[in-house]
Amino acid sequence: MHIKAFLILLATCYQSAISLNAGNGTQKDLSPLLLVSFDGFRADYLKNYSFPNLQKFFSDGVHIEHLTNVFITKTFPNHYSLATGLYAESHGILASRMYDPSTKKVFSIQNDSDPFWWNEATPIWVSVEEQGYKSAAAMWPGTDLMIQNHTPTYFLKYDYKVSFRERLGNITKWLTEDESVKFATLYWEEPDHTGHTFGPENTTEMRKALKEVDENIGLLMQQLNETGLWGRINVIITSDHGMVQCSQDRLIKLDQCINRSSYTVVDLTPVGAIIPLSEPSALYKNLSKCHPHMKAYLKNDIPDKLHYRNNERIQPIILVADEGWTIVQQGNLPRLGDHGYDNSLRSMHPFLAAHGPAFRKGYRMESINSVDLYPLMCHILGISEKPNNGSYSHIRCALVSEKCTDLAVVVGIVIGVFIVLTTITFLFRLMKNRELSPSRPFARLELQEDDDDDPLLE
Ligand code: AMP
Ligand code: ZN
Ligand code: ZN
Repeated sequence: MHIKAFLILLATCYQSAISLNAGNGTQKDLSPLLLVSFDGFRADYLKNYSFPNLQKFFSDGVHIEHLTNVFITKTFPNHYSLATGLYAESHGILASRMYDPSTKKVFSIQNDSDPFWWNEATPIWVSVEEQGYKSAAAMWPGTDLMIQNHTPTYFLKYDYKVSFRERLGNITKWLTEDESVKFATLYWEEPDHTGHTFGPENTTEMRKALKEVDENIGLLMQQLNETGLWGRINVIITSDHGMVQCSQDRLIKLDQCINRSSYTVVDLTPVGAIIPLSEPSALYKNLSKCHPHMKAYLKNDIPDKLHYRNNERIQPIILVADEGWTIVQQGNLPRLGDHGYDNSLRSMHPFLAAHGPAFRKGYRMESINSVDLYPLMCHILGISEKPNNGSYSHIRCALVSEKCTDLAVVVGIVIGVFIVLTTITFLFRLMKNRELSPSRPFARLELQEDDDDDPLLE
């Protein structure tokens, strides 16, 4: 009896040792994943400007032409959606400026470090840490503060003065010096900054800024190569939103429609967040007929497709400017280029490119939703997904491990088979006709003969 128990114990230990080894082996072999964002990189910059390095990057990987991002199409909401797979109403980072009515707290991108704002969701770097790996970050929004009691193991405090080279240097150092770092993320402010300052239609300035962005991508590839990471690391390069030209003659002036003493403004353009100071219906009525290029919504009537209603931090009245229009109270145009508009607008969409052992080579996709990236990253890292609004099935074909048949190839094969079969049938009939033609009179004669002496049928 004792011997039996001992044998069972021995077998159990052996089994656990095997699974532990397998686990360690998997963890060690797992390729790291690097997620890079170039802020405000509109998808069609790729069609209108030259990007030799980026082109090289995805010619050997994946290019997704445009991402339908989340409303509102601003930096913080969209970076948090990429990291959580959630719409803004579900992750809680709803705008660059927010007000929470129950705690009376105020959020801005200069005052963003209270975990209260971020804890409604779990970003991927927190899941990576919770599941036993390490993460590293160079200034991706949210990575330099406590979320769910975690920061990445390695991170840089946000400082726009730190160069791209320095951010990248830190990332490659962490990835090479500590093999447990399985997820890293890197953020850069361009071409968003130039887009705001000069407007995306200033091709001279945009060309300069985009050339620098491409040089930074070249630097990224070079440093990954020099550190031996290139080829074994999975790299995703993407962005948060696009950019559109604004102008002084496309201003919507609230002072011409409503009295400043009747409301508080939390955020203004191109999506206004308004708190009425008395009964909202009169204010709403004035706002809804204020300007033909601005829509006003009472919170409960915000369209479903925006996924922007179910959160305390969404104010009682929301204003949405049409593409290229700017909402001000009074005065001049604040920026020549802007974003934040309806996420169904093409001008608001960024792109995505990916390279590495997990990805197909030379694979192109038209579009995905930006929230689909989260389940893809979890899949690559082998970590479990938190509930999210993305769908792995939309993007899985970007991976080499997935068996996917290209629809164009299937259609091509079907058409090809059809043509071959039709040709064979045609040739077969032609040959048969040729064989039959000299003997036709005889055939008819034979038939006639048969007809003549057909007594058996009678
Ligand atoms: P926006 O264009 O208003 O959506 O915001 C983009 C700006 O946010 C960038 O130009 C950066 O200066 C700023 N920004 C980006 N990340 C951070 C961060 N982690 N903390 C503070 N500001 C940031
Ligand atoms: Zn941005
Ligand atoms: Zn911006």
